[in-house]
Amino acid sequence: MLNENYELIIGLEVHAELSTKTKIFCSCPTEFGAEPNTHVCPVCMAMPGALPVLNEKVVEYAVKAGLATNCQISQNSKNDRKNYFYPDTPRAYQISQFDKPLCEHGYIEIDDDKGNPKKIGITRIHIEDDAGKLNHNEFSGGSLVDLNRAGVPLIEIVSEPDLRTSEEVDKYLKKLKAILEYIEVSDCKMQEGSFRADVNVSVRKKGESKFGTRTETKNMSSFRAITREIEYEANRQIEILENGGKVEQETLRWDDISGKTFSMRNKEDAEDYRYFPEPDLVAIKLSKEYIENIKNNLPEMPESRKSRYMEEFKLSEKDARLLTNSKYLSNMFESAEKICGNSKAVANWLLSDISRILNEKEMEPSEIPFEAEHLAKLIELIDKGTISSAIGKKVVEELFINPKNPEDIIKEKGWIQISDEGAIKEVVMKILENNPQSIADYKAGKDRALGFLVGQAMKETKGKANPQMLNKMFLEELKK
Ligand code: ADP
Ligand code: MG
Ligand code: ZN
Repeated sequence: MLNENYELIIGLEVHAELSTKTKIFCSCPTEFGAEPNTHVCPVCMAMPGALPVLNEKVVEYAVKAGLATNCQISQNSKNDRKNYFYPDTPRAYQISQFDKPLCEHGYIEIDDDKGNPKKIGITRIHIEDDAGKLNHNEFSGGSLVDLNRAGVPLIEIVSEPDLRTSEEVDKYLKKLKAILEYIEVSDCKMQEGSFRADVNVSVRKKGESKFGTRTETKNMSSFRAITREIEYEANRQIEILENGGKVEQETLRWDDISGKTFSMRNKEDAEDYRYFPEPDLVAIKLSKEYIENIKNNLPEMPESRKSRYMEEFKLSEKDARLLTNSKYLSNMFESAEKICGNSKAVANWLLSDISRILNEKEMEPSEIPFEAEHLAKLIELIDKGTISSAIGKKVVEELFINPKNPEDIIKEKGWIQISDEGAIKEVVMKILENNPQSIADYKAGKDRALGFLVGQAMKETKGKANPQMLNKMFLEELKK
């Protein structure tokens, strides 16, 4: 629990890997998961004298991201060297942008904790190259450098310190991720590190106007971990202040197992990087028409899709938001709805069972293994009474393991609902015979006994009996 006398100030620096086919300064592929050091060339391996050439798509994607987050796009921009040594960066500098980023002064709108719209400022979006990766080798005790990721294009999206709670941070990040997915500039796969955040946290006494000293926790790539980190860090800082101490400006690392932050280094300042204009690249000049053209071709954004769902399908604000927070989920919603025409059911399945399974399996909506047609078919089977919704749940589980036409699944598994009067009657008679006490209870006015009998019949048929028919037939028999 947070000490009520304090307020949190949070600002985020999000790194998103762009889904261009090739790297930012060379033509090596960006594809994830290849054998180490197979997607490399003299440029991204930083051979002396190799010259970078800026990938035009990177500029286009960054401008798209800027326009989608209400930024002003700079017509005159440039790249700068950011000097630092790190073993996965053989050049000993990163090519980033310093004083002339491509995009500035934007915002993203979220709902604050009272449900009112709140604008979170975007300070800037700039382009830069990703570093390589160190693989720590257990056998030799050393580390091996893989440069496949070196030169994969990134945008860094820096927010204003406008966020006040971990819930707001969660909403902001999910909204930002959704926007980047919608405009198709990043796949935002958090497990692959293509959407990760540096989290800046400080605290101050309520009513104070000056910000406190912040810490920055690097490379967070799970929503849950970010929430935990913010709460841990805020409490740690409050405790220091309450004990009369001072918060150190530090760069931290989060350890998810112990649930604590650890110091990596003292915070560096911009001067420490000795930024200067990158002499191997020309300046970036964009015409008004170029920017306008990208603006006019932006697709529908999550916010307007959400309003459309509330209007067109009468979904609640919350359901519409949850669906449209993921392009994949909402695309599946639209496709399945078109086929089966039952928007309520499609939304329910996606937001309840399917979301739950995604959570359990730690999967992203983009990794759903089955098609919208499968979901639509499942809903039709339930609507027609071929299967009960209890069986429907089992079919969904099965769709994640072995995706195919639900009709085939229920045939193979023998899950077709029993709606044959004779068969239902047989079950009803058997259950009544075995439960004379329940009959007596019902006749004595205990309505609950009916539910018990139906439950027993369901058990007997492994969930396959048509529940409406069971109910009706039990009632008929009990009233005799
Ligand atoms: P850098 O981390 O590269 O030095 P900045 O100083 O511009 O860059 O700040 C980076 C992030 O820290 C921004 O997202 C900003 O909103 C956030 N930030 C700045 N001051 C504070 C503060 N006192 N508390 C929390 N966040 C802050
Ligand atoms: Mg920073
Ligand atoms: Zn290369």
